[in-house]
Amino acid sequence: MSRERDKSGPSTRAVHGGERTTRSRVSDSLTTPIVQTAAFWFRDTQEVIAYQEGRHASFEYGRYGNPTTRVVEAKLCELEGGADCVVSASGMNSVTTMLLALVPQNGHVVTTHDCYRRTRQFMQTVMPKMGVRCTVIDPSDLHALERAVADGANLFFSESPTNPYLRCVDVSAVAERCRAKGTVVVIDSTLATPVNQQALALGADVVLHSVTKYLAGHNDVLAGALVGKESFIRPIRELHGVLGGVIDPHAAYLVLRGMKTLSLRVARANENAAAIARFLEQHDKIERVHYPGLPSHPDHAVARRQMGGGFGGMVSFEVRGGLETASKLIDALRVPYIAPSMGGVESLVEQPTVISYWDKSPEERAQIGIRDNLVRYSCGVEDTDDLIRDLEQALERL
Ligand code: PLP
Repeated sequence: MSRERDKSGPSTRAVHGGERTTRSRVSDSLTTPIVQTAAFWFRDTQEVIAYQEGRHASFEYGRYGNPTTRVVEAKLCELEGGADCVVSASGMNSVTTMLLALVPQNGHVVTTHDCYRRTRQFMQTVMPKMGVRCTVIDPSDLHALERAVADGANLFFSESPTNPYLRCVDVSAVAERCRAKGTVVVIDSTLATPVNQQALALGADVVLHSVTKYLAGHNDVLAGALVGKESFIRPIRELHGVLGGVIDPHAAYLVLRGMKTLSLRVARANENAAAIARFLEQHDKIERVHYPGLPSHPDHAVARRQMGGGFGGMVSFEVRGGLETASKLIDALRVPYIAPSMGGVESLVEQPTVISYWDKSPEERAQIGIRDNLVRYSCGVEDTDDLIRDLEQALERL
């Protein structure tokens, strides 16, 4: 699916990317049709044989591909500047399929400690069954990375920005150190989106997305994607056809529809998050704000270098007080929904301790680095003034 990147901007690519070039014309439909089928038929045996011998193109069976899904993949290639892409049923399915495809038995994975909980769970509880070891490092500790690479690490995986502390990995510096020893670099760019960060251009081999979030953008569908060089995506696609975590064609259509407004939504979410971060940082009831766009953030310099479009739609902050004060603030907010996830048009708010780590003891949470007064606010596309006014009234009630 190698595709030359044209010179159009990200908004034009989000609307038109992959649409007219990838699909065949059905009833002159302006939009990409939902090809709701489990299998693809052949006209005669000769056509089956031609397919087997590579002279006739067919997806053959829904687990191996679908025309609607293929347009999503082509659009993502254009947005990320990748040669190939495989879309699947969820971000976690992309994570697990990628790790199983690219890490050998008895291999070694390096990841960062501020990491989506389920990704870390898979690396630390399932991968060891295949003899795979996992080294966890600080997102900015390049010396620890160098040691792991020298020790033969097969793959480096990190979000950038990370979730929930929004740490930013210096992707170019990581890629430079990994390239020398053939360590594959995979960056989960979910929080950045291709609008704010071009991880492949920075040197990553593969970019991962929980498409569920900003790409689909409407809190109504789950999907995942991996974009990168063909040599990495090919084995992932092959294993994906075996493991079977395929996206339904209707879900793929919802993703396509959502992606067309990606740039507009991300621009507003960036604006909202930056405004909230600035507002909260000067508020005396807030202890600390984590936002890569703020000079006070430990990775601000890295973020400025590698996040061209903006610093993302998520802000995390610590409320002065403890667990209860943070809950009280959340309960007093009127605009955002209390919910996990992020990246849709609706703003969402959550307390990581309560929504993701309630099963852990305070000591375990402290060890993972989850503070009980932490609030994660994921901006939607509402009016900035409304979100700020809402925060003001909620803070007044503390
Ligand atoms: N990566 C990040 C950064 C996430 O936040 C999540 C989910 O919250 C995932 C991956 C997993 O994606 P999904 O929920 O689509 O399976």
